Amino acid sequence: MAVDVTIIGAGLGGLMLARVLRVHGIPATVYEAEPSPAARSQGGMLDIHDYNGQLALKSAGLMDEFGGLVLEGRQAMRFLAPGGTVLFDKADDGTGGRPEVLRGELRQMLLDSLPPGTVRWGHKAVRVRSLGGGRHEVVFADGGTVVTSLLVGADGAWSRVRPLLSAATPRYTGKSVVETYLFDAGARHPAAARAVGGGAMIAHTPDRDIFAHREKDDTLHAYMGLTEPEDWFAAIDFTDAAAATARIAREFDGWAPELTALITDSDTAPVLRRLYALPAGHRWDRVPGVTLIGDAAHLAAPNGEGANLAMLDGAELGEALAAHPGDTEAALSAYERAMFPRSAEAATLEGGGHGSDSDGPTPHDLIAAFSRHEETRQDATRS
Ligand SMILES: Cc1cc2nc3c(=O)[nH]c(=O)nc-3n(C[C@H](O)[C@H](O)[C@H](O)COP(=O)(O)OP(=O)(O)OC[C@H]3O[C@@H](n4cnc5c(N)ncnc54)[C@H](O)[C@@H]3O)c2cc1C
Repeated sequence: MAVDVTIIGAGLGGLMLARVLRVHGIPATVYEAEPSPAARSQGGMLDIHDYNGQLALKSAGLMDEFGGLVLEGRQAMRFLAPGGTVLFDKADDGTGGRPEVLRGELRQMLLDSLPPGTVRWGHKAVRVRSLGGGRHEVVFADGGTVVTSLLVGADGAWSRVRPLLSAATPRYTGKSVVETYLFDAGARHPAAARAVGGGAMIAHTPDRDIFAHREKDDTLHAYMGLTEPEDWFAAIDFTDAAAATARIAREFDGWAPELTALITDSDTAPVLRRLYALPAGHRWDRVPGVTLIGDAAHLAAPNGEGANLAMLDGAELGEALAAHPGDTEAALSAYERAMFPRSAEAATLEGGGHGSDSDGPTPHDLIAAFSRHEETRQDATRS
């Protein structure tokens, strides 16, 4: 008998699962808290790796569509010293194995690949409970309910499904980022545009860093990282954009003006994003009829892997369910057996999990990590 798959959350993980199930003719319904696909800007570019995110896209049969979204030239990578000296500069020669796309366009591509009505918008799960025998009830904010024999929590950092499996909750990583955008950068912000180059740029010290990306339409998207406790940020009034900008810029005193311009010349109000993580190696004992994918399972501080892993989780769970018709528990066990060690390893990468080195990586560590990343990719491509 076909299982009725109920997915909570229409992020990249949940949508990828629904798509791979569809490829195998297994129906699924995705319940999403937001009222519509356009409810929130999906912001930002993602590099989709050939050793995880792209494997998911292949399972989903969407590589051609994905190819149409790739922004050419954005795999260039540079590391700058805070004073502006270029420490490392790698052009995009087309062999990087991690093409860049806009998250919003990737999500829309997945939505377009599903039959109409698969995603039920405006359904915020507020409570879940076990009914026994592997069945669960989900209660939504509007009072509606659904009962399912396979519940998948794809509902991100603050998952409502996770408590069915684990008592773990995300903890503050000790670092937050402040996000800015500079539009039409070549013409309006030429020095910052040159510093960022054609792709990604990182400037790093142990407790302050700037990560910036050249996005579509000559937009620069920047994250200023500050290792400070939560109350430090609470003392800054982010509703007063000018004062918050000045306060954050002060923390980068002495940095090259083309780097601080990514704060002071922002065309948008600075947005604070506090970074949380689940304990690295988070896992649970098998509970019949329920599992987690993506950030709900293994939230880590951003290290370039989270969205890729969420998609791979979704694809592998879909493949496991297709490979074990009529035996949901065997499918969930197979999925979790591969997912637990994979996400534990990813959480040890720079910026990931509670286990990170408190001093953080040096620019040289980052360059070494980038080289290791390239080696991993080449190994994966060879095997
Ligand atoms: C600043 C920053 C930069 C990042 N950069 C990168 C990067 O460059 N590359 C990369 O790979 N990863 C990156 N990540 C990580 C990446 O964003 C996440 O790992 C990824 O989005 C996880 O996908 P997901 O589908 O598991 O969860 P999400 O994307 O969080 O999606 C969860 C969905 O569930 C919905 N939802 C939540 N609660 C409920 C509920 N109760 N009921 C119903 N629906 C609900 C949400 O509205 C959302 O649509 C970054 C993260 C941050 C914070």
